Amino acid sequence: MPDRQYLVAANWKMNGSLESAKSLVIGIKQGLAGNNNAEVAICPPFIYLPEISGFLSDTSISLGAQNVSHLENGAYTGEISSVMLTDFACRYVIVGHSERRNLYHESDSRVAEKFIAAQAQGLIPILCVGELLEERETNTTEDVIARQLDVVIDKAGISAFANAVIAYEPVWAIGTGKTATPEQAQEVHEFIRLRLARHDNEIANGIRILYGGSVKADNAEQLFKMADIDGGLIGGASLIADDFLTICRAVR
Ligand code: PEP
Repeated sequence: MPDRQYLVAANWKMNGSLESAKSLVIGIKQGLAGNNNAEVAICPPFIYLPEISGFLSDTSISLGAQNVSHLENGAYTGEISSVMLTDFACRYVIVGHSERRNLYHESDSRVAEKFIAAQAQGLIPILCVGELLEERETNTTEDVIARQLDVVIDKAGISAFANAVIAYEPVWAIGTGKTATPEQAQEVHEFIRLRLARHDNEIANGIRILYGGSVKADNAEQLFKMADIDGGLIGGASLIADDFLTICRAVR
């Protein structure tokens, strides 16, 4: 069994205030002290990165961002570059979250450009892939995941996946309270790993594939037991320190 360290990443999305972000990070930091089997990462809204970065500097908790521009710099109002993220000690950045793909119309190819831009500055992209409900219902889940992955493999090259994380997030499970069963999730995680293995077996075995989609304190352990699930990307439940801590502790 390859030695993949579990990763549990919090995606706070556009929630909270400076005060609530501070108390959440303090709660997580205190609760994790001296007791984590998993690597833990927190992805707050951009504007709170400097403040949260300060709270994490004396911990092993990693910092991540929720999005990044595919461009380096210039007249792109409202965008944030990879270099800017590294100024605040970010280690990770989420790219291709389904909310970015579906609400902000980010194409597979744009997601691949973001993946490449992040890695160019030493950030580790957390590449999200996942199918819509109608895609699952029409049995096209594997086609969709293959398409989303293949564009990044083609543009970035398979070796880029040595420094990346993948998150499988079925869109129908995000924020809906409907979690994929551990078996449903495992099936897609295995498919993802095999898809990468077509190009490079070692990279496929080493990459961490997280599950995301209504992971809660009471279902995390069952999901994390599956052979190809290497942790989670946690939305709603990461906004409550005790729930997030229980999910982090569900890792063995
Ligand atoms: C997410 O948006 O990445 C996510 C997994 O959200 P939730 O846990 O709320 O379903």
